[in-house]
Amino acid sequence: AYKMRAEDSMRETEMIRALGVDIRNGVTIGRDVSLEQLEREYDAIFLGVGLGETDDLNIEADNIRRCADALSFIEKTKTNGFDHVQIGTQVAVIGGGNTAIDVATAARRLGAEVVYMIYRRSREEMSAFDYEYELAKVDGVTFVWQAAPVRVVPDARGRAQGLVCVKTELGPPDSSSRRSFRPIPGSEFTLEVDMVVRALGQKKLAFLQDIPNLKLDGGKVVVNAETMQTANPKYFAGGDCVNGGGEVVDAVAHGKRAARGIHAALAAQQRGVAHA
Ligand SMILES: Cc1cc2nc3c(=O)[nH]c(=O)nc-3n(C[C@H](O)[C@H](O)[C@H](O)COP(=O)(O)OP(=O)(O)OC[C@H]3O[C@@H](n4cnc5c(N)ncnc54)[C@H](O)[C@@H]3O)c2cc1C
Repeated sequence: AYKMRAEDSMRETEMIRALGVDIRNGVTIGRDVSLEQLEREYDAIFLGVGLGETDDLNIEADNIRRCADALSFIEKTKTNGFDHVQIGTQVAVIGGGNTAIDVATAARRLGAEVVYMIYRRSREEMSAFDYEYELAKVDGVTFVWQAAPVRVVPDARGRAQGLVCVKTELGPPDSSSRRSFRPIPGSEFTLEVDMVVRALGQKKLAFLQDIPNLKLDGGKVVVNAETMQTANPKYFAGGDCVNGGGEVVDAVAHGKRAARGIHAALAAQQRGVAHA
């Protein structure tokens, strides 16, 4: 909800509190409260934990300053305010999804003179929505299609001063149903940039593996689509941790479905107790 104004988010939070919901901030499950403790204290548990940090780039970029990940960059624009976010003059954003577009448009609006968006496949395979793509074009983002990053070039002070990329050629669809790609040997080229932001999707949360009997498919929680109940009947789940990354409207719909699922499961349990 980073695109909402803080006061609107707070108003919604108060509305939920007024329904009698006890909201505890700053508590990490698995660190401050164990799963066992949760299971002891609650009859049903809903997992709406989203996704983890930005995926790694797996290229030589370690310890080079002005290499950022998309989520940290966006967090700074939200928490520090636009006036206090460091931005390069020429910025490379790596990725082809809506998050990459958000970073690229924010970078332009923060004052970057040139923003490249580098994507290893073509426009047709890019997962960003059409209207987000149009928005980025209006904001003057330069798209570099069919190119993959190879390494970040540091200057003498350890700051990014270039990004070496290699051109790619596309082949038949791969397991993602999008066309596969492979680097074209000898096609390396260097973009002069002083900031690199990776926006490659997000990791799945590892702590989900600690929940007994929870079924995961590629890190996503498997649920009954009608009730949102997981393979462990005490747990229900929804949102990004189930669909691997969708939109707020999907997470809200999952939450509503799960609320009905939890109500039905607890009501059935109570009926069972009453009949025993
Ligand atoms: C950069 C970016 C831009 C986006 N823009 C849009 C947009 O314009 N429109 C749109 O509809 N969607 C957008 N989305 C997608 C949208 O944010 C998600 O689909 C939605 O927030 C998913 O909701 P969720 O409740 O599943 O997870 P989240 O909103 O991610 O919430 C998960 C919460 O669980 C907490 N959590 C995780 N692990 C633990 C733990 N162990 N203990 C306690 N708490 C934990 C997290 O801190 C977080 O607060 C965007 C996403 C990104 C990354």
